[in-house]
Amino acid sequence: MNVNPHISLDVQSAASPPRAVKVRARNVDVFYGDKQALFDVSLDVPERSVTALIGPSGCGKSTFLRCINRMNDTIVGARVEGTIELDGEDVNDRGLDPVLLRARVGMVFQKPNPFPKSIYENVAYGPRIHGLATSKSELDGIVETSLKRAGLWKEVSDRLHQSGSGLSGGQQQRLVIARAIAVKPEVILMDEPSSALDPIASARIEELMDELREEYTIVIVTHSMAQAARVSQKTAFFHLGKLIEAGPTDEIFTNPRDSRTQDYITGRFG
Ligand code: ADP
Ligand code: MG
Repeated sequence: MNVNPHISLDVQSAASPPRAVKVRARNVDVFYGDKQALFDVSLDVPERSVTALIGPSGCGKSTFLRCINRMNDTIVGARVEGTIELDGEDVNDRGLDPVLLRARVGMVFQKPNPFPKSIYENVAYGPRIHGLATSKSELDGIVETSLKRAGLWKEVSDRLHQSGSGLSGGQQQRLVIARAIAVKPEVILMDEPSSALDPIASARIEELMDELREEYTIVIVTHSMAQAARVSQKTAFFHLGKLIEAGPTDEIFTNPRDSRTQDYITGRFG
């Protein structure tokens, strides 16, 4: 047993090094027409870790997620106020091209949505339009690396030119993750990425998140508190459009400060 307090302190700090803030949201309000969906939300998302957004249905989790890569721009009548910074850069700056932003901040939805194209083309599409490869062999390399990182390569390497829609739901979701990874994103947003999958495919996605966080900043919306507790290092609890509290996942689940968080995690509503 280690009885030297200095050593144990070192071990502790090595196990959980402080993380820089990758996404900084300040005083974010979102309106859909006259209806306000988010109220004064301020949240820091640490880099290279998983941050989980939890809370009852309709509390604004997806709305907040969409602020980070400006997907709310695509919703008629949606209006965002406040600031969201990615590495200190205002994502709503008029000079910032949303297409480039969405390559830096990729998104994975609940229902796997591969393009109606081959497995290869699903992954190659983004790098091609963003000019990330100068030759066919370079593009092949990106496709292979992305599929490997998404944990799908072994299952599809012999059928890259078959349709992505022929894959199982869990494989399709990993294909969509490979497609996001292929354009070298910094942040990956996942909106209930495993809630349409069976438990085994869902567990595979959770393992993948745990691997991907070494390299990427991940923000996941989940209605499963068990999943949030398993995969995330930071948890933010939303209720009725407000961020009630956020902090290290183990603290939120074992020692929440707000009675509404306590009520939610103990299943009293939600
Ligand atoms: P969650 O993801 O936590 O279930 P949402 O962010 O989807 O919550 O929704 C927050 C609130 O905003 C809800 O009241 C919802 O009805 C409303 N809302 C979400 N999307 C739209 C939209 N496109 N148009 C109008 N209202 C919306
Ligand atoms: Mg949602």
